[in-house]
Amino acid sequence: MLDLVEKYTGFIGCTDSYEHSGLIIIGAPMDLTVSFRPGTRLGPQQIRRVSHGLEEYSIYLGKDLGDYRYYDAGDVSLPYGNIQEGLSRIGRVVSEILFDGKFPLVLGGEHLITLAVLREVVKLHPDVAVVVFDAHADLRNEYLGEEYSHATVMRRIIEVIGGKNLYQFGIRSGIREEFAFASENTNMYINEIIPPLQEVLQQLNGRPVYVSLDIDVVDPAYAPGTGTAEPGGCTSREILKAIHLLGELNVVGFDLVEVSPVYDIAEQTALLAAKLVREAIISFARPYNR
Ligand code: MN
Ligand code: MN
Repeated sequence: MLDLVEKYTGFIGCTDSYEHSGLIIIGAPMDLTVSFRPGTRLGPQQIRRVSHGLEEYSIYLGKDLGDYRYYDAGDVSLPYGNIQEGLSRIGRVVSEILFDGKFPLVLGGEHLITLAVLREVVKLHPDVAVVVFDAHADLRNEYLGEEYSHATVMRRIIEVIGGKNLYQFGIRSGIREEFAFASENTNMYINEIIPPLQEVLQQLNGRPVYVSLDIDVVDPAYAPGTGTAEPGGCTSREILKAIHLLGELNVVGFDLVEVSPVYDIAEQTALLAAKLVREAIISFARPYNR
């Protein structure tokens, strides 16, 4: 009988053992500081749900999710309304995953969660470089009086890792001050993702690299289901290609944030996110001989 049933819980192809998995998926459904339209708290569950519409085989990489052992631990339970406690809880979970020698793959949630993850990653990899794909600079010093926001997250992160270790791709929205700040302090590449990424791959080779993917880097034509959609972005194919290029590097952690199912009428944003997660697992995780 049991060969006739299938459990649709967790990301497609996940195992049921934390202990025996090299990569751990967690949801971080923080949705407190999203400035325009909320809804990212529903992102992780939706990405998991639609993942079951994908195949486990990657035609791009010639590999299958079945060659990897990864565990979907579920969502971090967060106290809504308390940013610092929320970040602390996400950090505690990530810290344990890293301490156990496993790769954290975090599904947002709003972009602020990346700060919680990186605070832990940098303890293990002090020389980490951070590669970010985003329509937005996220470099404000404060937003509406708040220092901790998805609009300030990269500013807070460079206080932890140093601005020269931040590489931002696809940026096409921000205030004048953010671009002035970036030209002095970070490595920012406007609009494009693939040509500048190909240029810096050599520089990043041999370093631990953390990858953060804000889904709004992709054009709203492909990914409308996000809080602050920004026209003029990259295509689905380009962002998939970016993940494949990064597979050449020593990637030590990954997050995908800002998917907001409320605006995702045909689920195309969540489907793209799920496909990116599949490609990220195959590109970044170590295969496991079952
Ligand atoms: Mn962002
Ligand atoms: Mn963004």
